[in-house]
Amino acid sequence: MDSIFTKIIKGEIPSYKIAENDSFFAFLDINPNAKGHSLVIPKKQVDKLFDLDAETYSELFLFSRKVAFAIEKVIPCNRVGLTVIGLEVPHAHVHLIPLNNMQDASFSKPKIQITTEEFSSLAHEISKHVKL
Ligand code: AMP
Repeated sequence: MDSIFTKIIKGEIPSYKIAENDSFFAFLDINPNAKGHSLVIPKKQVDKLFDLDAETYSELFLFSRKVAFAIEKVIPCNRVGLTVIGLEVPHAHVHLIPLNNMQDASFSKPKIQITTEEFSSLAHEISKHVKL
């Protein structure tokens, strides 16, 4: 069965896309910890990160690095943090979160609210800086 993220890759569910190539797709998290909170996923649907084949695993992190550089160009932050959880969506994914304090990395704190216009604008601005 297709995961919600596979449906996003196929365009069956909308997303605020940042970048994609043949193997990976990056988009804004719809329920962000901070402005610019993004997800990077392999197009290959595998539930757990460490079950990815070694090449896809390595390439996922190299692709995520390119997205993180782009986020840093657009979002003022101390640094971009990388987290893997995966308890909600069974499709391996990396969270890239602009961090200014430890709370920004917390998935227990209240999420921030962003308008659809701001989501679109953030995705557009970050996408302009991704150098694939
Ligand atoms: P987890 O699997 O625990 O890493 O959490 C899944 C993450 O995916 C959460 O941060 C959700 O806000 C995010 N998410 C779920 N559905 C969507 C969607 N349709 N578009 C963007 N982000 C999503």
